[in-house]
Amino acid sequence: MRVGIGYDVHPLVAGRKLVLGGTEVPFDKGLDGWSDADVLAHAIIDALFGAAVLGDIGRHFPPGEPEYRDISSLALLERAREKLKENGWRVNNIDATVMAEQPRLGDYIERMRRQVSGALGIEMDQVSVKASTSNGIGFVGRGEGVAAFAVALLEEVNESI
Ligand SMILES: [Zn+2]
Repeated sequence: MRVGIGYDVHPLVAGRKLVLGGTEVPFDKGLDGWSDADVLAHAIIDALFGAAVLGDIGRHFPPGEPEYRDISSLALLERAREKLKENGWRVNNIDATVMAEQPRLGDYIERMRRQVSGALGIEMDQVSVKASTSNGIGFVGRGEGVAAFAVALLEEVNESI
């Protein structure tokens, strides 16, 4: 078994959709970035690559590449799943926390878990997503951005007996 950690931040700006865990959340701002800027999916991908010692998300899906412009990060999760498979790993479980002062995310957590688990080909009960605020402190507290943390546990496939 291998454990990995992921962390990501994107700025909240006007004129963008807010996509978290492959789920569009109604809000007057969205996250800015080269892809859909799904900060939760990105933290999860980094945790997965970290656990497999495959580098970081930028190495696999470099920003600036036309291929990744506005791409759904669920598609990136699917590609990460393929890369893990090629390297002999499968996902045991994921635990993630999204930190956003606004909007309230409680109503969207189940859908985020469904979307992420679907992209990774695992069960919903293998994906935990929690929402937190920053109690008004720092860039998250001021509503300047959204942060996400994730931990992933991988297990080796086809262990020799
Ligand atoms: Zn990102």
